Amino acid sequence: MSDQPAADWAFDDEFADALEAVPDDQFDRERFVPGVGPLSADVMLVGEAPGKREVERGEPFVGQAGKQLDRALEAIGYDRRDCYITNLVKVRPPENRDPYVDEIEAWRPVLEAELERVDPTVLVPLGSVATDELLETDETITDLHGREFERQGRTVVPAFHPAAALYDRSKVDAVESDLRTALELA
Ligand code: URA
Repeated sequence: MSDQPAADWAFDDEFADALEAVPDDQFDRERFVPGVGPLSADVMLVGEAPGKREVERGEPFVGQAGKQLDRALEAIGYDRRDCYITNLVKVRPPENRDPYVDEIEAWRPVLEAELERVDPTVLVPLGSVATDELLETDETITDLHGREFERQGRTVVPAFHPAAALYDRSKVDAVESDLRTALELA
């Protein structure tokens, strides 16, 4: 059971128009995971795409990477329930591969609608795929993480993907410090 309080809004209602724009062949309801969090959040975290656990729970970042994210947020005294958390692509790609460009394109209207509606002060792309997409850059996450950028009047602070810290323990501190930088700007 989730320890998150039930949301007082419904993704399908709130983002109905944007969801209509997603081509049917990209919208597998069985693998769909919506964004969660307060629509008034100051901070929006954006991952790549949901994994198996996320589909089971119907919520982003609740598997191993999510636990790592929670640990990092907890270490800096932040409650994940205060952030809006979503993914570039709302449907789990097969075999947990990175989302393809056409999948990201297909789901872009929904992400843009979330950005417009939540209107966060700080946007945190988690990992290279979300960072490339949101900053339209080819620079590597190693160069970009923890730095402050601007996108359409919003502050963007890329962070290493929390999953990176699962495989490379030296990234634990980096994920934490990236998030700290981002949250201090909110
Ligand atoms: N990784 C992501 O990028 N998103 C999730 O929701 C879970 C893991």
